[in-house]
Amino acid sequence: MVENIHWLGHDTFKVVGKNVTVFTDPFRLKKSDRADVILITHEHYDHCSPEDVKKIQTADTVIVATPDCASKLSGDVRTVKPGDTLEVKGVKIEAVPAYNTNKQFHPKANGWVGYIFEVDGKRIYIAGDTDYIPEMKEFKNINVALLPVSGTYVMTADEAVQAALDIRPDVAIPMHYGSIVGDQSDAERFAEKLKGKIEVVILKEE
Ligand code: ZN
Ligand code: ZN
Repeated sequence: MVENIHWLGHDTFKVVGKNVTVFTDPFRLKKSDRADVILITHEHYDHCSPEDVKKIQTADTVIVATPDCASKLSGDVRTVKPGDTLEVKGVKIEAVPAYNTNKQFHPKANGWVGYIFEVDGKRIYIAGDTDYIPEMKEFKNINVALLPVSGTYVMTADEAVQAALDIRPDVAIPMHYGSIVGDQSDAERFAEKLKGKIEVVILKEE
């Protein structure tokens, strides 16, 4: 599964399924591409970037986003709040809560999200900008968890370790480092602390 997941930096992933290509939070894309589905977690500029969306959006692309981001975009945009479920182009999608508990950048009241989505039978969780939150205990059967590790606006690497232990994915992949806040050492700390407990894959930025 991990071989079908490409990290394009920060929270941008390209997940290539048999019949569908899903992008998350496209930001600072190095090249144009074609997305079937784009998932956007919230309206901060490093997650909701209209100029990057344009690089991968086609007439058929469906975008799933929070309302504050959707208002900056055009085309087929579906808005979500935490708890919503939908199916787009055969991809089952659940919007889940994402918020801060020990800082103010992402208040729970904003209704920002992460997503659990299923591609080729594998359930992938992209956490969005969040701290370690109790809802994570409720997520079931996650194959791949994409977790922020940079601290400052989101979980630290140590907090992300706690999150991974609750979520118990088959594989955890660190994200949200290397471009605005956080660096490779955060990803390595995350991997080191989960050694022998949860498989961690540090993807190379493409
Ligand atoms: Zn944010
Ligand atoms: Zn962010």
